[in-house]
Amino acid sequence: ASNFVWKGKGSIKDHYKMEEQLGKGAFGFVRLATHIATGQKRAIKTIHKSSIINDDAERKKFISEIEILRKADHPNIVKLYEFYEDEEHYHLVTEHVKGGELFDYIIKSKMLSEKIAAHFMSQLLSAVLYCHANNIVHRDLKPENLLLETQANDANLKVIDFGTSAIFEPCKNLTQKYGTAYYIAPEVLRKDYNEKCDIWSCGVILYILLCGKPPFYGRNDRDIIRRVEKGEFSMKGSEWDVISPQAKLLISKMLDFDPQTRISASEAVQDEWICRFTDKSDLTE
Ligand code: ADP
Ligand code: MG
Repeated sequence: ASNFVWKGKGSIKDHYKMEEQLGKGAFGFVRLATHIATGQKRAIKTIHKSSIINDDAERKKFISEIEILRKADHPNIVKLYEFYEDEEHYHLVTEHVKGGELFDYIIKSKMLSEKIAAHFMSQLLSAVLYCHANNIVHRDLKPENLLLETQANDANLKVIDFGTSAIFEPCKNLTQKYGTAYYIAPEVLRKDYNEKCDIWSCGVILYILLCGKPPFYGRNDRDIIRRVEKGEFSMKGSEWDVISPQAKLLISKMLDFDPQTRISASEAVQDEWICRFTDKSDLTE
């Protein structure tokens, strides 16, 4: 399978000076590194071959992450530089996104103003629209997989982690269950879905950005999933009183239980609430 991916020549150690760990995932880790030839900082995601080699589904997922990232070219999608393979590992070299996870930004700021939330959401939707237009479904959109270039309110956002993404055929439904409890769409749980599952996750993210809490919650994954299956969520209470009806309307269009009637990425980027803030109004408040 490795003949159709673009590979760097020789050993990764000849080209990169490895530095501290940036993150840890299910199948490996992400490290900061310096590209020796240019002095540029990059992020390298390393995966142990042993963890995927005997698992056909996992290997395919990894190959598809490389294939999809290699073709993707969008300001809000992490850039893949190159790919290395050695005896024990695969290495994906991507740009280093310095500002940390949107997850940590939310924790730090608790609740975001509508303006800042719209700024991040508009960038996320732009990446999702690009993916869907190119028949790519991400399937694991969540604040841990959204990185910021700086820690400023007007930071540029980048979608990472295409490890569960896939190329889909229009009009043909997907059946594999991927995702994370808080963000997974109900139709994904039923294993019959299309790219609209990403919009559901965007709706969950927007909800969290505006009120600091997830719309579907519980003590454990099973409890959360039970709430997702019902699809019922509330936008009542004091934290919601101060939020505009336009923001709430967009959330309810994204968290539409029926993927058929759920707002699409192309409609969402043109949404009234999103557009109100995308004229590059000052975000440095
Ligand atoms: P996994 O599939 O294991 O979740 P990710 O690709 O999401 O792997 O990477 C895990 C974590 O590593 C991310 O949540 C992020 O904190 C960090 N990370 C990944 N890629 C980068 C990058 N390009 N720049 C900076 N940090 C990164
Ligand atoms: Mg991840």
